[in-house]
Amino acid sequence: MLKKVIGQKAAELGIDLLGFSGARELDEVKRCLVKRRDEGRQTSLEWQDIELRVNPRLLLPGANTIITAAISYFTANHARTSGMCGTLSRSAWGTDYHRVLGSKLKALAQYISESTGTTTKVFVDTGPPVDRALAIEAGLGWQGKNCAVISPDYGSWIFVGHIYTELELFHDRPLTRECGECELCLKACPTGALGEPYVLDPMRCVSYLTQMKGFVPNEYRHLMGVKVYGCDTCQEVCPVNRDVKPSQISDFYPNQASARPDLLELIQINNRGFKALFGQTAAGWRGRTVLQRNALIALGNLKNPAAVQPIAACLTDVRSVIRGHAAWALGQIGGHISLAALLQAIERETDPVVREELGAAIHGLEGYVSKGGVST
Ligand code: SF4
Ligand code: SF4
Repeated sequence: MLKKVIGQKAAELGIDLLGFSGARELDEVKRCLVKRRDEGRQTSLEWQDIELRVNPRLLLPGANTIITAAISYFTANHARTSGMCGTLSRSAWGTDYHRVLGSKLKALAQYISESTGTTTKVFVDTGPPVDRALAIEAGLGWQGKNCAVISPDYGSWIFVGHIYTELELFHDRPLTRECGECELCLKACPTGALGEPYVLDPMRCVSYLTQMKGFVPNEYRHLMGVKVYGCDTCQEVCPVNRDVKPSQISDFYPNQASARPDLLELIQINNRGFKALFGQTAAGWRGRTVLQRNALIALGNLKNPAAVQPIAACLTDVRSVIRGHAAWALGQIGGHISLAALLQAIERETDPVVREELGAAIHGLEGYVSKGGVST
């Protein structure tokens, strides 16, 4: 009865899916996380304390049930595709979901606490809980071979959050559905991050690479295409994601300027402009430098000579990561103007890592120029 009342309240709040699981220690998840850490595949974006991640009672002593909620963020595709534009993952097209889902879960948790006199705790992505494992335990979806949670009605376009509660509630069962013979996501992954079904190497995943700080390993840059934040490739190809119900939340409908950002504007944007463009989105938290670095990689991949002058201006930027990736981008585009800018830059550059980037770009272009292969 109480479960039904909570479900009705959740629906009133605009929550699409709700499931209940026991607040038990997740032994299998712990084994996977420990193995990944020991193999050096734990990313800086993950919560580092594995015990906190898998033991609910360390987060809420007395927790008996975890209520897992999901909302769809699937919206119609945006139209702007011409020019030198980058792409953001669908998850960052609209208003930051941490705010949207967070406010719904806080309202639901408050309702539960007040009506039952029990303690609750809310988590939306930023805390230790392992979202996917809990969503599967609660029967919201099954684990796809791309490691996403796939719900029958909304596909994998869902944001997930949790309420830990002291209440004893009847638990839902995990779904029995599976991917079957399909392997489309494995074949589509640009970096081989999905080397085998159900195993994601986060260090090779473009989604992680676009969010990590510092220099992106050279071998992945040309595989990132024009992705400025996140990667949806393994979700876009998934047949389950084709005919899904759209999101009922208008906040997730795309803001064209930030969902398909103009790359030249992005590499020149100041802090105020960045905040205005991305401050409300889920991409904003990573900050201007990371997105500008990704924009330089995207411009290098587009190889449009019209971008050379604005990229060359980045060779004098105070941030070494921007100078280094500008050098790489010019090396990809090529031409006499790029080479001249790189030669000038290496004369004044003192940072050894940037000097290495400049040297590699120059080396590549000198060979190309000597073969007469440039036109700009
Ligand atoms: S998000 Fe992109 S890079 Fe990561 S596993 Fe999926 S397709 Fe591969
Ligand atoms: S693309 Fe195929 S294998 Fe991959 S998650 Fe979707 S259904 Fe599963």
